[in-house]
Amino acid sequence: MKDNESKEEHYKPKFMEWGIISKDNFSDIYEIPIKRWDPLSTISITSNEFGLHKKLKRYHGHYSYLSPIRGKRPKGYKTIHEAFKGKDVSKDAVKAFNDVFTAITEGKPIYDENGNQIGDGYTMIITQDEEKRDKPFLDTPHKVERIPSNCKALTLINRYPSMARVIDPSISDYIQENLPSHLKLARGINLLTISRNLYPSSNFKLIPEDILTGIFLSMKEAILYCILEAIEKDYYDIPVNPFFNIGLKAGGSQPRIHSQTYIDLNGDGHGNRLESYLNAFKEMGDNCHLCETTHGNSDRIIIATQYWTFYTTGSPVRNYHIRFHPNEHIRRFTQLKVNQMEDLAKTLKKIFIALDNIGIDPNRNIIFNCCPYGYDANFHMFGDIIPHEVIGGAEMADDMRVARKLPHIAASEIRDSLEEVLKK
Ligand SMILES: [Zn+2]
Repeated sequence: MKDNESKEEHYKPKFMEWGIISKDNFSDIYEIPIKRWDPLSTISITSNEFGLHKKLKRYHGHYSYLSPIRGKRPKGYKTIHEAFKGKDVSKDAVKAFNDVFTAITEGKPIYDENGNQIGDGYTMIITQDEEKRDKPFLDTPHKVERIPSNCKALTLINRYPSMARVIDPSISDYIQENLPSHLKLARGINLLTISRNLYPSSNFKLIPEDILTGIFLSMKEAILYCILEAIEKDYYDIPVNPFFNIGLKAGGSQPRIHSQTYIDLNGDGHGNRLESYLNAFKEMGDNCHLCETTHGNSDRIIIATQYWTFYTTGSPVRNYHIRFHPNEHIRRFTQLKVNQMEDLAKTLKKIFIALDNIGIDPNRNIIFNCCPYGYDANFHMFGDIIPHEVIGGAEMADDMRVARKLPHIAASEIRDSLEEVLKK
């Protein structure tokens, strides 16, 4: 940390920070992020399906990203639950949280109570609200001027990613020659979208609707910008996964509300689950299930707004697993328009409060399932809200869950709770 202060303007990224591998920071091939397909559950895609390019080998199956740097990311969660209990989101609270993003948004060094600097302020901003800033393949992290407080959200390159984004060509060649053939350098872009002002990541209810909408809008423009630049660099067939981790147990390691987006640039296929979705939509043809279903004679519908339908799935991944989809048949998060996003922000917040009020675990993931870029596939984008739960061995053994709560009962509980919330 101290070292960086003296040479502020020329920060040299350590190995894999912001996904950068350079001559300066590369030392050991076994430190690189790896994408590893499980040989026991991976199948080559040989058909002409979904209009995929034929240049590279493609698979669907189970894969892992092995990324040692992910373990190095700061954890700022120590006191957040206590500090936010009284809904105090004042600026003084920042110090108590070890929020590394404050140094970026305020454009100056921030210190904790013991005088230690929190975060060094170096960053790369892809979009400030909807406005483009740094190029998605930039390799020089830098400091920024104070971000105006009327800005709602910023999308940054994740400093501690699971994929490499910029690799020196000579290192790339070296890796290709020396890495065992069953391993592969994981390439991609990991985005992080944060609110400009500090709102807690532990609960949606404290985040104003317009800020949540701002996060969606900033994500959308950043993803589109990254895809555009990636295609310029000859990447194609790109799976994109936007998601929120709400609460520590759901993987949210930063105190400030944020979403993440994984943009996989390996061009080597997609996971099992996406394969199932793609094939299911293919089989439906013109009779899209999400466009036509009544979700169990509406028994399982929690709320249907002008733009969205929320329901409990008939095959939950966890108890109180909620699925939602835009009423419009669109394929990707980035096709959402501002009125759909505003409605989503408003409804998500209310549903989160309704879940809180009936005692559902506040640690939750929100996942947006989208058609990858470059895939010529029929798809209706949908989201999942998955409350945290401890799961057992049977559920590890297959793509299966044992749920104790009947989905239509879960729906009616949430619906009743939501009615109370809407009354207020
Ligand atoms: Zn549809």
